[in-house]
Amino acid sequence: MADCCPPGHGCNAPGDGEPCALTLCRAAAEQEDDAALALDRWQALEASSEGDGERRFRRRAFERARNQALIALAMKPGLWLAARRAPLQAAVSSARSRSRPRGRAAHR
Ligand SMILES: [Zn+2]
Repeated sequence: MADCCPPGHGCNAPGDGEPCALTLCRAAAEQEDDAALALDRWQALEASSEGDGERRFRRRAFERARNQALIALAMKPGLWLAARRAPLQAAVSSARSRSRPRGRAAHR
C-alpha cells in the first residue's frame, strides 16, 4: 500500500481514476495551509531512512496533515473535480497558474 494516500483512495484506489493525494496537495498548497503542511511532512518522511526511529512518528504526522488537507479539498468541488478529470495535468496547470501574479483571477 502506498504511504502517500489513504486506504482505498488515490494511489490505493481499486482503479486508477483517483489522483494521488500528493498531487492534490501540490495543486492546492498555495491556497490551503493544510496541503502545504502535508507536503512538508511528506518531504520529512521521505528524508528519513528505514530504521530511523522517527519514521513512524513522521508517517503519523504526515497522515494527520494529509487527512486534514483532503477534508479541506473535499470542500472545494471545483479543484477536486478538475483533478479527477485530468489528474496530473489539472494539478500541474492550476499550480502553475496560481504561482503567477494575480490579475485575471481577481474577479473570482
Ligand atoms: Zn498517492
